[in-house]
Amino acid sequence: MTWYVYVLLNDAGVTYTGIAKDVTARLKSHNAGNGAKFTRGRGPWRPIHIEGPMDHGDALRREIAIKRDAGFKSRLRKTDAAMAFYSDATEIPAVPGAYVLLITLAGDTEIHLARQPAKTLAAGRYLYCGSARGPGGLRARIARHLRRDKTVRWHVDQLTSTGQALGAWVFPDGDECALTACLANFPVPIPGFGSSDCRSCRSHLLAWPQGMSLPAFSAGD
Ligand SMILES: [Zn+2]
Repeated sequence: MTWYVYVLLNDAGVTYTGIAKDVTARLKSHNAGNGAKFTRGRGPWRPIHIEGPMDHGDALRREIAIKRDAGFKSRLRKTDAAMAFYSDATEIPAVPGAYVLLITLAGDTEIHLARQPAKTLAAGRYLYCGSARGPGGLRARIARHLRRDKTVRWHVDQLTSTGQALGAWVFPDGDECALTACLANFPVPIPGFGSSDCRSCRSHLLAWPQGMSLPAFSAGD
C-alpha cells in the first residue's frame, strides 16, 4: 500500500496521468525532463489530482481507468480552473487567508492530543483546513506544512512530519471554518482536531476517502 496515482496539468491544458511511490520526487523529475517521454519539454507540470496510497496493481488499474476517462479529466480541469492548488509554496501570495492542505499518510499514524488517549489515523488522504494571519501569511504557513523536518507545535504537525503534505488550495482573506463547512459530507477521523478553539466545526481535519470528489470551495466573504 505505498503507491499513488497522480494527474498533472501543464499551462497548455494537457494532462498526464502516472503512478509513483513519491509523487513530490516524481513531479520534480517530470519538471526536470526525466519523468517520462511524454512530459519532457512540455512543462512546467503541476499536480491537480492524487489518489492513494494503494497497492501497485490497483494503482496501475486506476492509472489506465483515468487515462481512458476523458470526462473525469475534464472535470479535474474545471475544478482546477476554479481553485488553484499549490505544491510549491514560493508561488503562493504572502497574504493572510485560509487554506485546505492535502496530506497523505503512507501508514497508520498515531496522533497525540492533549488530555486524550492517543488516536490512530489510518493510511490515506486527509484534508486540513487552517488559516494564516502571521508574518509571511499563506506562503510562510504552507511552506512550513510542506517541510517534513520541523518542531511539532500544532496537532497537524504530527501528520505533516510523519506523512507528507502535498500542497494546498489557498484563499486570500478566506475563513477556515467556511472551508470546513464545504467539507460537511467528509468523514471526521478525530473530533476536535485543530478546532479546539472553534465553536462551529466538528474538526478541521477531514478524511478524503477514495471515490469522493472535492466540492467547489467557498471561503466566505
Ligand atoms: Zn472551525
